[in-house]
Amino acid sequence: MQELLWLLLPVAAASGWWAATRSLRKKLAAGQRRHDPAYFRGLNHLLNEEPDKAIDVFIEMLEVDSDTVETHLALGNLFRRRGEVDRAIRIHQNLIARPALTTEQRGQALLELGQDYLRAGLYDRAENLFNELRQHKLHLPHALRHLLTIYQQEKDWEACLRIADELERHADADLSVERSQYYCELAGEAERRGQRKRAVVLLRKALAADRGCVRASHQLARMERESGSAADAVKLYLATVERDPDYLPEVIEEIVQTNRALGRHDRLRQFLEDMAARHPNRGAELHLVDLIRETEGEQAALDYLNDYIARTPSLLGLMRLLELRCDRAGGHNDTLLGQVRDQLRRLMRERAVYQCGRCGFEAKQLHWQCPSCHAWATIRRRPLHDADG
Ligand SMILES: [Zn+2]
Repeated sequence: MQELLWLLLPVAAASGWWAATRSLRKKLAAGQRRHDPAYFRGLNHLLNEEPDKAIDVFIEMLEVDSDTVETHLALGNLFRRRGEVDRAIRIHQNLIARPALTTEQRGQALLELGQDYLRAGLYDRAENLFNELRQHKLHLPHALRHLLTIYQQEKDWEACLRIADELERHADADLSVERSQYYCELAGEAERRGQRKRAVVLLRKALAADRGCVRASHQLARMERESGSAADAVKLYLATVERDPDYLPEVIEEIVQTNRALGRHDRLRQFLEDMAARHPNRGAELHLVDLIRETEGEQAALDYLNDYIARTPSLLGLMRLLELRCDRAGGHNDTLLGQVRDQLRRLMRERAVYQCGRCGFEAKQLHWQCPSCHAWATIRRRPLHDADG
């Protein structure tokens, strides 16, 4: 083979020659490694499920042959994926201690070790490593993503905003939804500390980051309502529903109460009828039952409800029907209807009516960040008829 390469030399360009000899040397080294007894000893330990002995052998090999870096990285990853984080850490720490590593190899080993630390819950150590990669602009998108995970865990929302900006600049990522949620988190903290003005500024920033952020819009409406500006609050509530009609069940109770406090019964009925027609099965129909009962009497309310349940059966609709029937019977809880109503109420409290649109995680309450896939603003209340399943 060497002779063949010498024959080719006159016609080969200098760079081509160097590439060929480099590749040949690598192949020879790989061939030698395949016949290295230590390599087989290591494999043997692995096959015999003696991972600690295997690690010792591979580490010993690394001291004489830095070409085994890829093998060590693969082995470390394997241990981490199997949940054996201590072993992964040992392999990756050993790699980083080798002075012969190329910048690329060292960057890769740092990234892997950082992920081991994350998996082990050692956030401070992981943060230091990812920050080192960030400073040297090595594996930047991965390092920034992991830093974001750490700062989210630590609820350091200011740091999350800084990292999100960097990710958008360097990794061509769109984090507008995440940024708006970080502003909402900061606004919540400000509100809890009594800093109302700061909370409003942060919520407006959330809306500037993502126009569709119902969380910010709802929080602004609630703050207006609590400060006594009911009319302004109603406008903000309606704007919230316009941003995302699926969010209606979260605000409908407050919309009904605020309109009632303002004495705007006609406007409220108009709104509920409009919602029932445009966005059915999100609670407007059941609030309409109450309004019809007040203005047209019990029978008209029952007729409307029976008609609605016949079209779209749901546990909530059935529950409302039972309540109306019980009221009609004089509100006695010892009747069969009363018992069924109470049991149904209990069953409904146990139901998971929220679901993540990304991973399918089911929850009994609204989470802004999915506890399962960690995505933001992906959990929604399922439509009434759908939530029974
Ligand atoms: Zn999810």
